[in-house]
Amino acid sequence: MSAAQPPPDDRVRAYIGLGANIGQPALALRQAMAAIAALPGTVLTRQSASYRSAPLDAGGPDYLNAVVEVATGLTPEALLAALQDIERVAGRTRPYPNAPRTLDLDLLLYGDAHIDTPSLTVPHPRMGQRAFVLVPLAEIAPERVSPRQLAALTSQVIARIPPGADDEDLATGASHD
Ligand code: AMP
Repeated sequence: MSAAQPPPDDRVRAYIGLGANIGQPALALRQAMAAIAALPGTVLTRQSASYRSAPLDAGGPDYLNAVVEVATGLTPEALLAALQDIERVAGRTRPYPNAPRTLDLDLLLYGDAHIDTPSLTVPHPRMGQRAFVLVPLAEIAPERVSPRQLAALTSQVIARIPPGADDEDLATGASHD
């Protein structure tokens, strides 16, 4: 096994939040999941359904969000850098805070690590205030989200999107189910 592919026991379970609200969000999330699954030393082990919600603290189209679980041998810093590369390839720019985005990737949790550096805070500092993070996270890792946390966010409306829905379905409200 090469240095980039550590044995499974050396891997850390990490959770990544995905979001997009311009361009083709369903396609962007699918492509981002494929890119995450292809990262060195990384296996995508679970993925949530997608959820649609209105932007928080910002205007613009509704967001599509999901959360994935990976087992990774990358350090948290290397994983964040890799996620930022994936955002760049998806055409992400940061013209102003909370601007609409083709793809946003957040490192939510990295094992049980607590990290606080100028470029990286883990657990992600705002994840506890966001239903679009905690609801999909609870779907794939219920042990990482308490019922009390979820109960505090019930005023935030989010809609679960049927599996397989593409951007055309989202625009028309149709589904493949
Ligand atoms: P955003 O524009 O919302 O994607 O924020 C990206 C900025 O947040 C970058 O400068 C990152 O270095 C920083 N950041 C800090 N902690 C995290 C995290 N856990 N996940 C993603 N970005 C983070």
